[in-house]
Amino acid sequence: MPEVENVIIVGSGPAGYTAALYTARANLSPLVIEGFMWGGLLQQTTDVENYPGYPDGVQGPEMMQQLRDQAERFGARYLTDQVTKVKLASEPGGVHRVWVGSDEHRARTVILAMGAEHRKLEIRGEEELAGRGVSYCATCDAAFFKDKHVIVVGGGDSAMEEAIFLSKFAAKVTVVHRREEFRASKIMLERAREEDNIEFLTPYVVEELAAGEGDALATAHLRHVDSGEQRELAADGAFVAIGHVPQSEIVRDQVHSDEDGYVLTEGKSTRTNRPGVFAAGDLVDRTYRQAVTAAGSGCVAALDAEWYLRDTPEVPTPEGMPQGDLAEAQWEPVAARSAEPSAAE
Ligand code: NAP
Repeated sequence: MPEVENVIIVGSGPAGYTAALYTARANLSPLVIEGFMWGGLLQQTTDVENYPGYPDGVQGPEMMQQLRDQAERFGARYLTDQVTKVKLASEPGGVHRVWVGSDEHRARTVILAMGAEHRKLEIRGEEELAGRGVSYCATCDAAFFKDKHVIVVGGGDSAMEEAIFLSKFAAKVTVVHRREEFRASKIMLERAREEDNIEFLTPYVVEELAAGEGDALATAHLRHVDSGEQRELAADGAFVAIGHVPQSEIVRDQVHSDEDGYVLTEGKSTRTNRPGVFAAGDLVDRTYRQAVTAAGSGCVAALDAEWYLRDTPEVPTPEGMPQGDLAEAQWEPVAARSAEPSAAE
């Protein structure tokens, strides 16, 4: 029977590591199940210029390493692996169960900080050509496109950031966006417009990405949103930067989430509908989505977990009944509970 941890943190972006730092400093010895690609999306970013405390900016991977080291210094423990299943207790004081493959971990509190992943276009050719011209990360792949022509799909800050980065490598970058207006901040848009080798094509959607010789991307098939005009654009690379999708699949049947999968929390807290289960960072935030706001919510989750542990008596374990079975007996799908609110609710 695995030991019952005080807190398990699932995920390792700024939210997860900040939660780890605070719970470690509260002597809770958190176990962070950080995924294989620890550090979250900031591992794929270059300059972070808007995180307070770095007047000259910082590279995303360097910042994540520092956050990780800082929490470790106070006793955070890391498991560089993927959570495959969870069973969250539904009663206050219950034990939550988290699996990494066949290894089970148990904890009185769980902080969910799995973040978000890149949104896909979901068009023909996208999946087949991933890694053969289609990419979601200029930082990772720009060097493959030296002196080539690439397109960037999207109109937000991510698309501008990708385009600016790619413009240092590629001969030409074409930003394809579905509207005339851009969601990107003024400063990012201006920076992109200042680059001689970045051009903009609006309002167009990409309908298909097609391979040429050698099975690598060769052509993007576009459609003008207003006129319906079809157009083919020769492209060696296509960088998709159209936002993100919260990574909440493993808990979606157990904690309340909205129609897009963002985990719902109570008021200003990080409390989910499950007692002792908290959620932070991009997993809950569709609006602000900044490293600093994620870190802030990781801090709140740590404090919420700490106070919960202080104030919530453990569920007494009936003699002869292992805690795990008790948690199992308590577990029930959230939908079943919320469908029929009791008179007291
Ligand atoms: P975003 O702001 O949500 O922008 C997504 C863009 O993709 C929008 O222009 C959207 O078009 C477009 N889009 C969405 N689905 C599409 C589809 N199926 N087909 C074609 N286009 C589609 O996402 P983001 O750019 O990833 O930025 C997210 C947050 O991170 C923002 O708060 C941003 O400020 C922040 N961020 C900051 C920086 C920085 O400051 N250095 C860098 C990156 C991100 P519509 O506009 O038509 O909806």
